[in-house]
Amino acid sequence: MQTDGAARAETMLRDLKEAGLKLTPQRIAIVRLFAQDRSHPTAQDLFERLRHDFPSMSFATVYNTLDTLAAAGLAGTVRLGNAARFDPNTDAHHHAVCEECGAVSDIAASSLAPSPGTVRTLEKVAPGFAVKSVERIYRGRCADCAAPKKHPSA
Ligand SMILES: [Zn+2]
Ligand SMILES: [Zn+2]
Repeated sequence: MQTDGAARAETMLRDLKEAGLKLTPQRIAIVRLFAQDRSHPTAQDLFERLRHDFPSMSFATVYNTLDTLAAAGLAGTVRLGNAARFDPNTDAHHHAVCEECGAVSDIAASSLAPSPGTVRTLEKVAPGFAVKSVERIYRGRCADCAAPKKHPSA
């Protein structure tokens, strides 16, 4: 997973540079941290984790770097609740969301293309809607939250 994230970071950096973005030490740190992060962080999450090492960095720098990655197709976004969460995994996948702790995990999918059955159903319930992709959200409890709680004094 580490090597995977590191390789992903280098691809993202190369493509950002090609997109004309100046690779400042701050932006490089944002991309390296984000590429290895499978928790679907918000820009705020990453900003808080980087603030210690880069006290002069603004929230806008973090947000704009992630937004540029997303616009270039190098990152996905998931909207759950209020905040946009960024996703370094650009392979086709669905999401499982824990309703207790909010953890989001990836469920690999072979494709997000709608099946012929889905297209037919949509023609009935939403005539004229041109469906491009189908993403599922599985809601429930993650393994940690489903495990029996330890007694606080134990
Ligand atoms: Zn949980
Ligand atoms: Zn994901």
